[in-house]
Amino acid sequence: MRRLSITAATTLAVALIGTLFVLLAWAAGSYFRDAALHSQAEGLSRIIEVASNQVLQRIQQQGLDLHAALNKDDNLSAALQHYRQGNRQALQALLDDPLLNGYPGADEIKLAGLRIYDLELNLLQSSSSGINGLPPQLPGFIARRAAQRKGIERLKAIGGLWVSAQGPFYSLLLPVGGLKSSGYIELIFDPAHSLARVEKITGMPLSVTLAAEPPPAIQQREASQGLLPVEYLLYSDDGQPAYRLIGMEDVSNFQQDMHTNQLITTLAFIAITFIILLLLLLMLNRGIFLPLKALLQGIDRYRGGELDTRIRASGLRELFTLGETFNNMIEQIRHDMDELERFSNRDGLTGLSNRRYFEQRLQEEWSLSTRQQRPIALLFIDIDYFKRYNDHYGHLRGDDCLRRVAAAIGHAVKRDIDVAARYGGEEFVILLPGTDAAGAEQVARELQTAIRHLHIEHRNSNVEPFVTLSIGVASLTPHFPDKAEQLLQAADSALYQAKHHGRNRIDKYSAGH
Ligand code: GH3
Ligand code: MG
Ligand code: MG
Repeated sequence: MRRLSITAATTLAVALIGTLFVLLAWAAGSYFRDAALHSQAEGLSRIIEVASNQVLQRIQQQGLDLHAALNKDDNLSAALQHYRQGNRQALQALLDDPLLNGYPGADEIKLAGLRIYDLELNLLQSSSSGINGLPPQLPGFIARRAAQRKGIERLKAIGGLWVSAQGPFYSLLLPVGGLKSSGYIELIFDPAHSLARVEKITGMPLSVTLAAEPPPAIQQREASQGLLPVEYLLYSDDGQPAYRLIGMEDVSNFQQDMHTNQLITTLAFIAITFIILLLLLLMLNRGIFLPLKALLQGIDRYRGGELDTRIRASGLRELFTLGETFNNMIEQIRHDMDELERFSNRDGLTGLSNRRYFEQRLQEEWSLSTRQQRPIALLFIDIDYFKRYNDHYGHLRGDDCLRRVAAAIGHAVKRDIDVAARYGGEEFVILLPGTDAAGAEQVARELQTAIRHLHIEHRNSNVEPFVTLSIGVASLTPHFPDKAEQLLQAADSALYQAKHHGRNRIDKYSAGH
């Protein structure tokens, strides 16, 4: 299975986070819209409440006016007096009259009945028209409040909403007959009629239903038409639910505004999220992705054989360090490899080049000389009677002597392309590309002079009491397909000659020999 790259994984994560943010923004927008609608509904509900209270106050006001009209010329007191004397007709007629013949304010309030009580609030007489079947006494909370009053307070009106089996009513209890009241009259209104006015006050289409009835199931449909159902429960004065007022507020504009707001907010949020995530990706790109890519490419180049490759260290601290470490590592490896090569080409005892390196260079220079048709010279150098030196001075002194001679041989070559090497034991070679026999002989002489000047004591030598060298010199201009071994053999045989002719001398190879 292919592994996911850091870039792909991060981009995926960033995209996921972005999507999540956008969804959250949309959800938050929807939540705020619903919350705004809800608080809108609550505010409107308060408006319905205030309007309902206004209507109830209006009922009381109109009730007082009606009471004043009924009591005109003390009619009520007189009728009550007759009632007590046994003539009930006049009171009955008086109570029925407004219900039959109308009353002031009939367009605003609907009278449901009138009832007369004695001073102890016992029911004496009820209007025969209007609503029947009401409980034959004052609503409990009015009776209680009336009973608690004293003196002049008894002349004040007590009004309130109450709920009976017939539905809610508004009752107003007033004294009959001014200061010397002889009883009480209860004006009973049907508030539903007046509550219709709430629609006019609030300017909201309104439905008034009994609280006891189940609420109308219109809300869903109305809401979809941009109408917000606003409910207010009107309670009776003794705390029972009386009416359910449901206003239908047209919130289509409000909803449209909210929708536009939500769209703008969400789009802005998406844009901001997008920009932030883009910046994040750019930063990640500079800080992580690109440096990682450079590192991987560097490793690839190195594995492909570019051993000198370097990368530009960049990015966040860890990656920067990684890049620098990579470069340092490559440098270190390069350095170690160079060292290794140098050591593998060097003779351990003398520090001159070793035979391996000499042979490799001999092949190279031989081919070059063949191509360029120029001479190439070789000096074969051997210390005279060195076995005796060892025997007499010991191996350690022998090694020391080898080192000193080697140093002189090293100094004898001047050019970079020359190779001075230990060929083995106490034998050395000097390879001189582009050098003829005369030049090579010149180098050999200078070397011999240098050795003479070193003046290394060698008592057992048969030639001199100090260390001397025998040198075989050969210089050839190679022709294809001549082999480099030819030069070696030539120099070797020249050396053999030098030994043969008494040592401590230079012999040149001549083809005729
Ligand atoms: P000739 O004049 O004919 O060259 O006589 P020679 O004694 O120099 O020649 P031979 O080849 O018989 O002896 C070479 C000696 O060099 C043998 C060995 O003792 C000595 N030798 C070779 N390699 C080393 C070395 O690494 N260290 C030391 N101390 N001696 C070495
Ligand atoms: Mg030898
Ligand atoms: Mg020797």
